[in-house]
Amino acid sequence: MTIAATSQGVRARAPGKINVFLKVGQVMEDGYHDVATAYQAVSLTEDVRAYPADDFSVAFTGTIDTSDLATDGSNLAIKAARALARSAGYRGGVHLEIDKHVPIAGGMGGGSADAAATLLACDALWGLEASKEELLALAAKLGADVPFALVGGTAIGTGRGDQLSPALAKGAFHWVLALAEFGMSTPDVYRELDRHRDRHAQDIFPAQHQPTVDANVLHALRAGDPLMLAESLHNDLQAPALHLAPGLGKVLQLGERNGALAGLLSGSGPTVAFLVPDADSGMELQVALSASRLTAVRATGPVHGARLIHD
Ligand code: ATP
Repeated sequence: MTIAATSQGVRARAPGKINVFLKVGQVMEDGYHDVATAYQAVSLTEDVRAYPADDFSVAFTGTIDTSDLATDGSNLAIKAARALARSAGYRGGVHLEIDKHVPIAGGMGGGSADAAATLLACDALWGLEASKEELLALAAKLGADVPFALVGGTAIGTGRGDQLSPALAKGAFHWVLALAEFGMSTPDVYRELDRHRDRHAQDIFPAQHQPTVDANVLHALRAGDPLMLAESLHNDLQAPALHLAPGLGKVLQLGERNGALAGLLSGSGPTVAFLVPDADSGMELQVALSASRLTAVRATGPVHGARLIHD
């Protein structure tokens, strides 16, 4: 890895993600649910610039309102920088500037992308040359979605979602993302799912022991076929999230009436991801959603995982 520590700092970019398939199994001994998910990295990205500093600090710019985001040691980017420094025995600090475009608590792994880009940027800034395996091990400790933000592309995640295996994907899928004005807590959505399963234990099948990703999803991704993928999109967190935020049902209907092949909640929501056949229909849907006063952005996937950007 090259070291490009100039007055411009070192820049790294990492993608947000859409879970095109998410099945939630039972609660494991560590308190996490056993999941099976198919991740797709999308072109809504975070840029992290790392500058030499004695201490650890972070500041935000970009299209997302970050005024409520903590910038102390609880911020995932700071956690990532400190974890890397600790593991490498590096004694200095870093100032991070994050150009943020992935919604906060939106179910698209924005914080995870910040953490992944920070690992790469600090590794280069400090000249550590950590191996991919070392970075992945640190990433898994920082959060279940951080390893995927490092790897990117298309991948299957099992366990907490952090045990990754790459999946083949052809072509580009076009998405329109309806961003919500509020965030949703991932643990709250999982708790709602557990409550639902307890309430209906008599009527529904018990949660799968080791959930798996449907073969149809893998087939659709491999074929690069949006129609086939639209038919196999699935998210077990959608029903509990809609229970907590019923207004999202209307957003889903609006997209599906305006040219989307299908819509689904991204991760634990509240971002709604609409799969469209091509770029033109994406633009039309974006206009329709904007006319209903929703914030809509277009993205394609799959894209690269975290990487250094040379200015
Ligand atoms: P996931 O889909 O991985 O569950 P998410 O996209 O729903 O994540 P994030 O935006 O990654 O949610 O962040 C979840 C929580 O983490 C937020 O409520 C926020 O307070 C906290 N957080 C800490 N650092 C960051 C960061 N750099 N960016 C965004 N959120 C952060």
